[in-house]
Amino acid sequence: MPRALVTGITGQDGQHLAEFLHSKGYDIYGIVKGQNNPKSESLRNEFPYVELIPGDLADLPSLISAVEYVKPDEVYNLAAISFVAMSFNQAELTANLTGLGVLRMLEAVRIVGGSQNNPMRFYQASSSEMFGKVRETPQTEMTPFHPRSPYGCAKVFGHDIVVNYRESYNLFACSGILFNHEGPRRGLEFVTRKVTNTAARIKLGLQKELVMGTLDTKRDWGYAGDYVKAMWLMLQQDAPDDYVVATGETHTIEEMVQLAFSYVGIDDWQQYVSQDPRFLRPSEVDLLIGDASKAHAKLGWKPEVDFPTLIKMMVDHDLTWEAGKAGIALP
Ligand code: GDP
Repeated sequence: MPRALVTGITGQDGQHLAEFLHSKGYDIYGIVKGQNNPKSESLRNEFPYVELIPGDLADLPSLISAVEYVKPDEVYNLAAISFVAMSFNQAELTANLTGLGVLRMLEAVRIVGGSQNNPMRFYQASSSEMFGKVRETPQTEMTPFHPRSPYGCAKVFGHDIVVNYRESYNLFACSGILFNHEGPRRGLEFVTRKVTNTAARIKLGLQKELVMGTLDTKRDWGYAGDYVKAMWLMLQQDAPDDYVVATGETHTIEEMVQLAFSYVGIDDWQQYVSQDPRFLRPSEVDLLIGDASKAHAKLGWKPEVDFPTLIKMMVDHDLTWEAGKAGIALP
């Protein structure tokens, strides 16, 4: 059985990837940080086939021990401080984990596997936030980076160091430049989930208002379940490379809000939505839209869930979830 080691196993992508690799017959190991991490318990319940290993992206010895113990065929580095807004408040921590964490994970693979003829394959979760103040539209693997947040800056370092280790040590290391990818497992702090969850709560009479930042910015939103397949495909190729993973469609936040409210049966969404500068960021990414033709041509990858279906899936999940917690019977 192939063996996979995943950092960020408790996050949205880690969970989708665990499910996907399990369906492919992998033995899966996940690194979890912290003493008595509350997410470990729910992960054990939902994914009993994943073995959890203690470790931290800030602690190289723990990563070396994990790689030595697992002897993985594939390493997926998904762990990061991943919320852009938070990266402005904790910029140093973001640089350390989201940026230097990649270097430490690569070092663990290089040291344990030996630098030449290293059989371990490495995937790095790069991000469309690296494009930031975009230099061209749509963005491809060749588009120059201009990050607009400490998160974006840290991801650029992570991306560049993967290229450097591939070229310097002949590691089979790939980066997936993933555009926003969402789903019912997305954290409530991210805009799509905040909107679908609040629309559901308003519908159920549990909340009165949705308080937002900007409604004008645009994102290329896909479904996380589709995107983890692209990660795996990258590691099955003959040679390592970097790929943009995106839908190629862009939508404003306002469109997304309107859609979510329409799914719960509210057409006059403006009545419920207000804006608060608290949710604005010191600098913004304006227009992200990815060109995934390389992933399509070389990996045979394309997204399966479209934008309306994605938002509906999230709204349906949040209606059921919130109604269940509040003891409300749905019709
Ligand atoms: P990001 O693309 O990784 O930053 O993902 P987010 O879901 O956190 O944010 C997407 C966009 O939504 C950004 O341009 C935010 O500024 C914008 N946005 C507007 N209002 C909100 C809000 O209330 N919460 C969040 N998280 N984002 C918001």
